[in-house]
Amino acid sequence: MYFLIIIFNIITLNSCNNLTAGKKNEFANNVVVAHRGAWRAKQFPENSIASLSHAIQLNCTGSEFDVRMTSDSILVVFHDPDYHGLLIEETTYDELSKFKLSNGENLPTLKEYLLTGLNNNTSTGLVCEIKPPGNKKRGLYIAKKVIELVNELEAQSIILSYISFDYEVLKKIHEIAPLAKTQYLNGTKSPDELKKDGISGLDYHIGVFKKHPEWIKSAKKNGMTLNAWTVNSPENIDWLLDNNFDFITTNEPELLFEKIKKRLD
Ligand code: MG
Repeated sequence: MYFLIIIFNIITLNSCNNLTAGKKNEFANNVVVAHRGAWRAKQFPENSIASLSHAIQLNCTGSEFDVRMTSDSILVVFHDPDYHGLLIEETTYDELSKFKLSNGENLPTLKEYLLTGLNNNTSTGLVCEIKPPGNKKRGLYIAKKVIELVNELEAQSIILSYISFDYEVLKKIHEIAPLAKTQYLNGTKSPDELKKDGISGLDYHIGVFKKHPEWIKSAKKNGMTLNAWTVNSPENIDWLLDNNFDFITTNEPELLFEKIKKRLD
């Protein structure tokens, strides 16, 4: 009887742990990161709320997007430095939002993006790229504002990683949010150099990894995450799967899912 009670307690405790864990975003167990959301197949605008929602629907482990800041310090999600001919960093959000995305959405704010990620989402982590602005100081300010907003919304658990071409931005994020995962995009630093600065992973163009295959080995040895962008061809997807990358950033999440499924069959 005593033995049965212990077994019962173990089972109950485990299910409680699972319940607690269920509140957090554990992320899907696949390598798929949708680049600017999952937009291509459904013809959604890149970086739209619709493309993020579709990445969540597809069960992608990650959905990547680009963050910029308006002249009145509103963080928005858009790739290019200009929107309808207006420089984002020199224009107010009100002025910019007069123009809609092609599916009728407003220019998404980071706040709306985070709230979408927090709502009915237990699988998809956000991969938040901070675009380097016109000057370095502004980049550090944007990094600080992004972390403040994530903290304010208690959205830490839905961020898979912060990525940037600006190394100082990533170092700033590591300084103010030491538990946050960071990946460098520029492809110019070895895993050892990144590790020394507290950066958690490499998110390089696939060509960099082909040129430096030794970095794949050394990243794994250092316990760092490996991600590559932006990989759409079947051959390159296979190459990354063969090399056991943690993440593959792609405009073709459906194709990548098919490839993964075929390997499991
Ligand atoms: Mg990007």
